[in-house]
Amino acid sequence: MNFNPSRDFARQLDTQDELASFRSQFVITNPDLIYLDGNSLGRLPKAAAERVSAAVAEWGSDLIRGWNKRWWDSPTRVGEKIARLVGAGPGQVIVSDSTSVNLYKTVMAAMALHPQRGRIVTDALNFPSDLYVLQGVIRQLSPSTLHGKSRAWGRHQIVRIESQDGDVSPDLDALASAVDENTSLVTLSHVTFKSGYLYEMAAITEMAHRKGALVLWDLCHSVGALPIQLDRCNADFAIGCTYKYLNGGPGSPAFLYVHRDLQEQALSPIWGWWGQKSPFAFDLDYTPAPGIKRFLAGSQPILSMLALEAALDPLLEAGMDRIRCKSVLLTEYLIYLADTLLAPLGFTLGSPRTPDRRGSHVSIRHPEGYRINRALIDEMNVIPDFREPDNIRLGLAPLYTTFGEVWESMDRMRRVVEDRRFEKYPKERLTVT
Ligand SMILES: *Cc1c(COP(=O)(O)O)cnc(C)c1O
Repeated sequence: MNFNPSRDFARQLDTQDELASFRSQFVITNPDLIYLDGNSLGRLPKAAAERVSAAVAEWGSDLIRGWNKRWWDSPTRVGEKIARLVGAGPGQVIVSDSTSVNLYKTVMAAMALHPQRGRIVTDALNFPSDLYVLQGVIRQLSPSTLHGKSRAWGRHQIVRIESQDGDVSPDLDALASAVDENTSLVTLSHVTFKSGYLYEMAAITEMAHRKGALVLWDLCHSVGALPIQLDRCNADFAIGCTYKYLNGGPGSPAFLYVHRDLQEQALSPIWGWWGQKSPFAFDLDYTPAPGIKRFLAGSQPILSMLALEAALDPLLEAGMDRIRCKSVLLTEYLIYLADTLLAPLGFTLGSPRTPDRRGSHVSIRHPEGYRINRALIDEMNVIPDFREPDNIRLGLAPLYTTFGEVWESMDRMRRVVEDRRFEKYPKERLTVT
């Protein structure tokens, strides 16, 4: 599309937006506040707020009987709803625990499926928590040498592919040559948290399978932002959080996917009663539940679970293809405005230029990025976030971000730099950036 930099053009894009009406399904207390952090914590869907009140009332009236009504089965029931967003047939997705814990469970399961191999391939663009979990797994698998900060203990090791272009995109050739007959598992973020680089899931999965490795995708930054086809891509495992584009609320439980064909051999490393074949038989010995349920451990945060269940409705109603279509237009427009209005002020793009290789957030870089971000939040009513060393990260959530907001945020950012408003902020980082 041929964009132009006027404010009227943004209005025109909003008028033509098929998804515009979805914004009214979210709580918006201050219409002048431009929220560009829906990729970290999604806005509150009105339906989720109502569901939480109702759930609290049920807690009061149903008491323990609530488990038999709608609580006990919620991990699989809500899992099936998420399955529709990630291209998974029934019986393969559950909601439970946190992303980091689900990563641990699925990585341990994958490593046990390939005991003769020892290597995990990942990349430097991955979310640090994912890398820490992998390091812990390697250490646990080779307990005889428990010291040092190395990424290798014994024959188990992590191969981390670096980026060749300042953390915008991965080195795909290095990735392909790193995967070999010693590789147990390839695990990557489908969309990387800093630059928003989008991996080609089908091609990478196929490449790894050709060499006999399993593949685990972290969907945190892609689920709810773009269509995903786990079954069609033959993914082995996937995990993801639900408080970003799925709008489940702070600390809402995460999900995990295990491909149907692996479920009977794969085991969770955490054997809890929720993953037991018949939890209420209270057998003294563990027998894994058939299917995906064996990846449950213990009691789940039901209030958050029910909030999430309601939060998913607007996404299912809008459909992931329409959401992706608007997301691409939003990020293309933002990049156009950044090139036109901000590049002359020293900003550069920290995300891929091709929409095919980009998720729904865009990073723009500036040597004063940290202080500009502070000024945007503290005095310009714009909430992006900051990622080291110099990325201002702008998350565009198609269900509620408008083109007018994109225009306005770029204009406010221009004013922060032109008027040198950032200079009064200290360079020291706040705890949560
Ligand atoms: C947000 C995010 C996480 C979060 O992990 P939690 O256990 O939910 O705190 C993990 N991985 C990636 C890629 C993320 O973007």
